[in-house]
Amino acid sequence: MRLRRTKQCKLCPWKLSTNPFDIPDGYDVDKHKALSCTIADPGDFRGSGGKAMACHHSKEGKEEHCVGWIYNQLGPGNNIALRMEMMRCENIKDLKVVGDQHERFEDTLPSIKHIQITP
Ligand code: SF4
Repeated sequence: MRLRRTKQCKLCPWKLSTNPFDIPDGYDVDKHKALSCTIADPGDFRGSGGKAMACHHSKEGKEEHCVGWIYNQLGPGNNIALRMEMMRCENIKDLKVVGDQHERFEDTLPSIKHIQITP
């Protein structure tokens, strides 16, 4: 297999610097929360049951993995099934994230610090 995307995008929610409300093309907090189904119980050999987080730049039928999600699930997320799958990936060595990353999915969701109040 081969990843369609290997570079993390500017506004990937896994980046500490991203305000989820700045994610383009109609950010939806409920859809974001629903992506918790793509997160493995760390160390569980079933991983996320084959569910993957798609990059929000994906085109229908040509889905791309979220680079931040792969980086997290191969690292602190300890998604064993994904680790096994990525052993067959031709270009996993090209995976590149930019800047500090969240360690937990919950922290990618909006929090009080992301709400801007204009006087
Ligand atoms: S979610 Fe993406 S890498 Fe994470 S992403 Fe979206 S635009 Fe890219």
